[in-house]
Amino acid sequence: MSSIGAVTRQIEALEISKKINATGSSSSSLRLVHSKQPSQSNVSKLLTKFAAPHPFPNVKPAHPPSSLRNPTSTSRQASEPPRPKAAPSHSQIDIGSYDGGLEIDEEKRGQAIYGEAAEELALDSSVSRRFPTREWHLFDFDMGRPLGKGKFGRVYMVRTKAEPKYILALKTLYKSEIVQSKVEKQIRREIEIQQNLRHPNILRLYGYFHDTKRIFLMLEFAGQGELYKQLSKVGRFSERRSSRYIDQMADALSYLHGKHVIHRDIKPENLLLGIDGGLKIGDFGWSVHAPGNRRMTLCGTLDYLPPEMVEGKEHTEKVDLWALGVLTYEFLIGNPPFEDRSSVSNTYRRIARVDLKFPAHISLEAKDLIAKLLQYEPQRRLALSSALTHPWILKYRPRSGES
Ligand code: ATP
Ligand code: MG
Repeated sequence: MSSIGAVTRQIEALEISKKINATGSSSSSLRLVHSKQPSQSNVSKLLTKFAAPHPFPNVKPAHPPSSLRNPTSTSRQASEPPRPKAAPSHSQIDIGSYDGGLEIDEEKRGQAIYGEAAEELALDSSVSRRFPTREWHLFDFDMGRPLGKGKFGRVYMVRTKAEPKYILALKTLYKSEIVQSKVEKQIRREIEIQQNLRHPNILRLYGYFHDTKRIFLMLEFAGQGELYKQLSKVGRFSERRSSRYIDQMADALSYLHGKHVIHRDIKPENLLLGIDGGLKIGDFGWSVHAPGNRRMTLCGTLDYLPPEMVEGKEHTEKVDLWALGVLTYEFLIGNPPFEDRSSVSNTYRRIARVDLKFPAHISLEAKDLIAKLLQYEPQRRLALSSALTHPWILKYRPRSGES
């Protein structure tokens, strides 16, 4: 078990909420009072919620922040606290070997940018207005294995060189490619939105920094990778597993909507799984701040578009409720409900008609939830608060104390 002193040092080492501590001006529940010694029982909670990622804890939290919504461990054994001997400390975890990808990329794709675009992309969390961090640089990290390739650069498993040697995913974005795609503002917005969010089912962005050619995002490490890959592997998920994911999704969306953030791009490809199997929303490319910002632009993946977007009408946060219905369907059946591989216009037509069909194996409760979310009229869609108490969700939600 880590000592209180060690954990306090760990939190301070990352200086995640420097400004809040210094000014004490935040009225939000996210306020961190580092000067106060945390009690042993809430040490893990603090780490999970406020400090740097804690992907391989030595200590199982007594009351994880989202115990109700944490993953779907069905076996008793999985819910037992890990034996201390088996849990490696961060510095012992194998982060794999670095493939030299950044240097390879730098030769091929790293051009410096100038002018207004350069200013727009000079992104640095140490000067963030709400949550300034310490200054970070590439040399602060030990590089590990590649985790994937994004549109604008590679993603690596890394560890901070400084104690407590946290494990993170470091995502690189090549500025020149962002400029070429004309998405400077969108990327900036995505980063700013994500850094302000704190929810167990939303991938944390701990900090960001840049050099002349690249932006680097310090992301929570999603140890179990892409949800989409798991879905492709097994074809479809069980009712229990689907219900657990949808519960977590609805909770995260409810948090986002409470902050007037509409996600607009919910689909399995944008979801990652944490080290303990919990769902993490990982992509904010299309999210916008509501209200009064009802846009008529068409965006998102075709299969997840609601009728009002297909028909080019105004849309609100209710688009996410529709997408939640589509996601529930895709988890349980293996493909989205209105998919028509023969033609795009058929898919549009099926969406506009809400042409919904269920195979025989789907339970009545699951059908009920999906049908209530997939309502043509945005106002008639089931509210998130009601989705969170829907019988199909409650049936599989572990009672407190279980995991
Ligand atoms: P795309 O358009 O292909 O989705 P992107 O620019 O959105 O690209 P990401 O999806 O964020 O990039 O990252 C690319 C891949 O890297 C992911 O599919 C995933 O496999 C891996 N990856 C990204 N972030 C993390 C993370 N935090 N933890 C673990 N793996 C990650
Ligand atoms: Mg992505």
